[in-house]
Amino acid sequence: MIEQATEALKKYWGYTTFRPLQTDAVTAALDHRDSLVVLPTGGGKSLCYQVPAVTLPGMAVVVSPLISLMKDQVDALQQCGIPAARLDSSMTPPHRQAVTSCITAGKVKLLYISPERLLTDPSIEMLKSTKLSLIAIDEAHCVSMWGHDFRPEYRQLDRLKEIFPDVAVHAYTATATERVRRDIVDQLNLTDPEILVGSFDRPNLIYSIAPLNDRLAQVRKVIDAHPSDPGIVYCIRRKDVDTLTAELTAAGYKALPYHAGLADHIRKFNQEAFIYDRVNIIVATVAFGMGIDKSNVRYVIHTGMPKSLENYQQESGRAGRDGLDAHCALFYADKDYHTWKFLLRDLEPEPKRAAMDKLSQAYDFVHSFRCRHKSLSAYFGQTLEKSSCAACDMCLGTIETLPESLITAQKIISCIARLEQKYPADYTARVLIGAKDKDITANDHHELTTFALLSDRTRGIVRDWIEQLANQGHIKKTGPYRNLTLTQSAGQILKGDLTPRLLKPVRQSRSTVKQVS
Ligand code: ADP
Repeated sequence: MIEQATEALKKYWGYTTFRPLQTDAVTAALDHRDSLVVLPTGGGKSLCYQVPAVTLPGMAVVVSPLISLMKDQVDALQQCGIPAARLDSSMTPPHRQAVTSCITAGKVKLLYISPERLLTDPSIEMLKSTKLSLIAIDEAHCVSMWGHDFRPEYRQLDRLKEIFPDVAVHAYTATATERVRRDIVDQLNLTDPEILVGSFDRPNLIYSIAPLNDRLAQVRKVIDAHPSDPGIVYCIRRKDVDTLTAELTAAGYKALPYHAGLADHIRKFNQEAFIYDRVNIIVATVAFGMGIDKSNVRYVIHTGMPKSLENYQQESGRAGRDGLDAHCALFYADKDYHTWKFLLRDLEPEPKRAAMDKLSQAYDFVHSFRCRHKSLSAYFGQTLEKSSCAACDMCLGTIETLPESLITAQKIISCIARLEQKYPADYTARVLIGAKDKDITANDHHELTTFALLSDRTRGIVRDWIEQLANQGHIKKTGPYRNLTLTQSAGQILKGDLTPRLLKPVRQSRSTVKQVS
């Protein structure tokens, strides 16, 4: 039957061969064996169920979370000459009725539907009297609280196996850790599923990570390295999207904003302007991108820390889908952690705990000194064997370390020791820059010999160095207040036997900061 599927691939899509993992995924679907397929964005998940859907007798049901995604997919299939349809809340009742009639007449091969509509009594009744070839769940990580985009309506999908016991269910996602994978299998009650996991590494993406010091200058530097190429600039908050778009436009760049606060028609207009190359830069919140298939994005800039590494994989993964080199530049500030914490405050306790866990892992990632490709692969449970990826700031050696790393680390460590290892990072940083804050003077810490040892630096920079030392294992954060304590290697640094790596900040000192701002 795989021959028939390959024929269909040629006939409708004009492709001659399946990609390696696609063959296995298509075979599982043709054999009516449940499956979980994890392939990175651009890996070709859609064809894994679309090809079997046109090869097998009956109609395939595709569960998808977003109306815009459904529309795009249905349009694309219809253009290939495949009878595909959708049922969603944006359609008029007569339009829905017409689609239902086509389904009962056996004229539809693929039906796209939202989870909430699928599980209504009329839909179930209609589908029970229709011959189904398979059920495909797109964006299946939405079923898991441990995924980065949990959707309660996906939870109801656990009833599918009970309602349609003879139809195989296939789950597809771009990002899933081991835990999310197990959760998808459990939640959907998949029976002895074929689990297929592609490689997460995107060797053509060149990652770089640095603290954010001067947003506009840092963003412009990346853009200017790819003049007139398409690129995406992500911001955490809507108001940052607006200000950065204005700053870029004032500096002569062609940029448009995209976030959930803009009217639908403006969002659509801006998105299309980017897709059809009328502007080359889109400045956006994470609301932008799901379902966008623009292959020649040459850079993705994050002006803040992503809320999870799944998010980072997905957002940065929008670059270089054509396989050519693309730059993923991430700039982070310490406050990003708190901004996300604030934005996540209203989650239910369990998803919140999961989200905070992920946030901490993202925090560790941006402060780490490991190969970025290896770190990301490891997060997804995969090992990259290469000794150097030759595609990240760590392996390329483009990261700028502070020439006086040793003495700076010694100052920080001495200060922690003088504070008797009883204070958290922010307090320590304030003592080091010589802030005469009330709590510091009340504790007589302005009298310490280590007070103001780094008075020419900003608090943000010193905080960041503390994180870098923690990430390299020289400092630990202990107790409920995350007080800084020293590890054995901190002693070696004090003696000068070990030199840690500290990043060179873009803006050097407090006096320069004053001049710039
Ligand atoms: P995903 O859903 O995993 O992000 P898509 O299904 O959108 O990926 O596929 C990404 C791109 O790769 C699409 O343009 C698609 O047409 C193309 N593609 C998928 N499978 C093949 C194949 N076997 N041969 C050639 N191109 C393919």
